[in-house]
Amino acid sequence: MTELEKVLNLTQEEKGWQESPVSLPLLITPYYLSLIDPNDPDDPLRRQVVPTVSENLEVGLETPDPLAEVDHSHGERLIHRYENRVAFLATDLCAQYCRHCFRRRFTGNMHGPATQKEVSEAASYLSEHEEIKEMLLTGGDILTLSDSELFSMIEAFRKARPSLVIRLCTRMPVVLPSRITDELIAGLKKFNTAAFYLMVQFNHIRELTPQAVSAVAKFVDAGIPAMNQSVLLRGVNDSADALEELCNALVAARIKPYYLFQGDLVTGTSSFRVPLEQGMAIERELRRRLSGLAMPVYALDLPQGGGKVPLCGSYIEGMQDNMWKFRTPDGQERLYPSS
Ligand SMILES: *Cc1c(COP(=O)(O)O)cnc(C)c1O
Ligand code: SF4
Repeated sequence: MTELEKVLNLTQEEKGWQESPVSLPLLITPYYLSLIDPNDPDDPLRRQVVPTVSENLEVGLETPDPLAEVDHSHGERLIHRYENRVAFLATDLCAQYCRHCFRRRFTGNMHGPATQKEVSEAASYLSEHEEIKEMLLTGGDILTLSDSELFSMIEAFRKARPSLVIRLCTRMPVVLPSRITDELIAGLKKFNTAAFYLMVQFNHIRELTPQAVSAVAKFVDAGIPAMNQSVLLRGVNDSADALEELCNALVAARIKPYYLFQGDLVTGTSSFRVPLEQGMAIERELRRRLSGLAMPVYALDLPQGGGKVPLCGSYIEGMQDNMWKFRTPDGQERLYPSS
């Protein structure tokens, strides 16, 4: 904090944050810091990375692990929550820490990369479970691993299951675009027995800098499609205008808006959560304004490990004389036969 005070005019709320053994570390990349307006306490980028006193609170139904990931884990790092896909926590480290991080029970605990033993155990699990079609390589941020650490993990998983689709989940193009080097991309291209997808997290249009856009373009040019998972965050992107701008800019940058997540009930994140009703109103408005391509699925990962569910209003009003009754986004009525 004292170092941060030299570059940002800190508010009382920010100064009141207390680092503790359970808190997420404070770490901001110089690149991301350079995007922040030092004199605007409400800067949407600053909100994502500068902690405030509210993080020291545990409010209402908050828990450290609302998705019950620990209950669905095999070993420390493999989460098998959905039958046909798994998440592997390759490392707990990130280049910078997002104050809204939902996996803070694990993230930033300084355990570091998965050991060879953990990787080979996960690889044998994959070989024994042919029903698994996709693996999310996540954490933490996988691009805090060196290229060779990352490639050796991918090699083990590709060896066990050559046709497994691998999602590379990382915020690095947003927080440290220079990490996306030609060597990284060339190395990934060698593991070409199945598809990779890049899963990135842009939450605000100002994060889509020329550097960030070209970092993502390296993946896309190499045949790795890019998907975005935003989090709906109070004071960052909680308006139809902010998300409309973001989603259109993402599409222009060849990044498909995939999910818009409602905030999970994670300890210390109450200042970011947007009431569901407001979120659903934003979703309805976005559906009117955005193309199908630009429209993300607004979703909630249900508490106690209930899994992800889409949060979109229904346009079906019911059945009338063997006709389905619909409400158009503009509020008009339409009918469609039931058979
Ligand atoms: C979100 C998630 C997935 C992927 O879900 P999709 O809806 O396919 O994107 C897989 N495993 C875990 C544990 C997850 O949290
Ligand atoms: S990059 Fe991902 S894992 Fe790391 S702090 Fe941000 S949200 Fe959490």
